[in-house]
Amino acid sequence: MNDWRLDASKMVEEQLIPRNVRDMAVLRAMASVPRHLFVPRRYAEDAYIDRPLPIGDRQTISQPYIVARMTELLEARSGMKVLEIGTGSGYQSAILSFMGLQVWSVERIDFLAERARKRLSDLGFAVHVIHGDGRMGFADAAPYDRIIVTAASERVEPLWEEQLALEGRLVVPKDVTTGGQRLLVRRKEDRGCTDTWYDYCRFVPLLGGTVEFF
Ligand code: SAM
Repeated sequence: MNDWRLDASKMVEEQLIPRNVRDMAVLRAMASVPRHLFVPRRYAEDAYIDRPLPIGDRQTISQPYIVARMTELLEARSGMKVLEIGTGSGYQSAILSFMGLQVWSVERIDFLAERARKRLSDLGFAVHVIHGDGRMGFADAAPYDRIIVTAASERVEPLWEEQLALEGRLVVPKDVTTGGQRLLVRRKEDRGCTDTWYDYCRFVPLLGGTVEFF
């Protein structure tokens, strides 16, 4: 696609900065990762607009603002280990990897996991994509400094909390109304956890089990 860098910069200037996304590392990543390569070809022209887009099997790549906002709320630094639940297109993973994080990402739908794995590797992002049920987290690489859940969840799964390092942060769109969520940041401290609530949002649901098309 011609001039995608211009579209990505405009996305940052018109959709992210006016909504108070301030973290320079996040803004740099959002301006630098080619979002149009993470959507089906027929949506490439729309990749940088202010909305989520379909990626197959009723799933979506999240709206750019939500990706940036959740990434900022993670307060992650280069070198940290992060677990993402809900790989989808792989775009959120690419943003985290661009920022220098070590990324593990779990997706329940086999063809989405496979496509994301190939796309990320073709683009040079060293992300571990796992096909599995993210409600279990991914114990093999735990503990994680950060966990980001990119599907609507009824609750914070006990295994996520268990796999989160002490002083770690978890960001999840937690159900607060029928079909509506609010971003929750949970910090794990030695005396227990503290919760802070942020934006209202709308995500596809976190579902149990795995899906095999292959
Ligand atoms: N982060 C993604 C991106 O950058 O494209 C967008 C995620 S999309 C809004 C939600 C994803 O979560 C879908 O791909 C869906 O299949 C996945 N999902 C839902 N329940 C899951 C589960 N239990 N484990 C892993 N992935 C799950």
